[in-house]
Amino acid sequence: MDLLNTLVDKGLRRELPTREEALAVLATSDDDVLDVVAAAGKVRRHWFGRRVKLNYLVNLKSGLCPEDCSYCSQRLGSDTGILKYTWLKPDDASRAAAAGLAGGAKRVCLVASGRGPTDRDVDRVAGTIKAIKEQNEGVEVCACLGLLSDGQAERLREAGADAYNHNLNTSEGTYADITTTHTYADRVDTVNKAHAAGLSACSGLIAGMGESDADLVDVVFSLRALDPDSVPVNFLIPVEGTPLAKEWNLTPQRCLRILAMVRFVCPDVEVRIAGGREVHLRTMQPLALNLANSIFLGDYLTTEGQAGKADLEMIADAGFEVEGTGEVTLPEHRVEAAAGRGSGCGSHEGGSSHEGCGSHGSCGSAGGCGSHEGGDVCGTTAAQEAPAAQEARTDLVAVRRRGAGTDLAPNA
Ligand code: SF4
Repeated sequence: MDLLNTLVDKGLRRELPTREEALAVLATSDDDVLDVVAAAGKVRRHWFGRRVKLNYLVNLKSGLCPEDCSYCSQRLGSDTGILKYTWLKPDDASRAAAAGLAGGAKRVCLVASGRGPTDRDVDRVAGTIKAIKEQNEGVEVCACLGLLSDGQAERLREAGADAYNHNLNTSEGTYADITTTHTYADRVDTVNKAHAAGLSACSGLIAGMGESDADLVDVVFSLRALDPDSVPVNFLIPVEGTPLAKEWNLTPQRCLRILAMVRFVCPDVEVRIAGGREVHLRTMQPLALNLANSIFLGDYLTTEGQAGKADLEMIADAGFEVEGTGEVTLPEHRVEAAAGRGSGCGSHEGGSSHEGCGSHGSCGSAGGCGSHEGGDVCGTTAAQEAPAAQEARTDLVAVRRRGAGTDLAPNA
């Protein structure tokens, strides 16, 4: 396919595809999906080899958010049954982080619900970052605390944060349809503040909220213009009790096309599969490793992912390897550019670090599971009927009941 050859050439040169080319990737048929994955896989391997970076989410503060993001299980007035708790103590957060690091993660993402931190919250998170860094040598730390006020990014950087995550989520044109309590411009402003403070910027999107192909291309082109080091791609988990609970409109093939488009438009950045991996890619998850070079290990903020051990087995079986703490994530030219502006990470050199997720992005509401919930009859001899690819898989969404904020061991 000429389109794919052109996109591979452009990806290897870091040249921006045209909007028409990006739209054409999303419009390819299911028959062509393996060709699309193979082409984008060449770009992924050129910049990132066969390494997979593992990131680990620690939800510092869950639920009780005054904002109204429609995709989020922590939003104002949601009735989702998620864990609700206020700030974790630094030692508890550090213990949760240590579990993820022991499981193979090199980055810890510290997330808190809310519109944005107060200065006191920043002090609190600074203490948590210090505790984690003292107790876990070489760890990368990314903060995701919502909209930042002047000076807060600098204070997080001074405290040792390597990165800051704040997702654009969707196109500027549709932003007001998903959230009314803050604007797209607010989000862009926070990503720019993180950049300006020398933090590695992490910003991504949520697919599956009823947006058009043009909206998806818009947000990914906007992300390329913002130039984050990492781009988390969330697939909406329509959690019961949120306004988007009925938005089941992704198939595994659609998710693969979206990831391929993101890889072609942002060829040399860390593309991370975030929330919704288990729910929407399902048994096609290993194919997606040919497109993304980064995933979250274990559970999400408010929902459960597949077992951390299953994540590791999937990576090995698909012929990839977990990126070690001594390995540099980003291509050399990005590391040099970050060093030039005194930036936190993008890699892992120089004792700093970063990442991306976010309740403010959607890992908050992202789930996973894959357990036998929902009345499955295990051990039955009756013929099992496979659900259709586009069917709503509410059976795969499980609210998180372990790890941070509970007495149970985390999934890592
Ligand atoms: S995404 Fe963040 S700001 Fe929006 S409702 Fe959820 S926790 Fe609050």
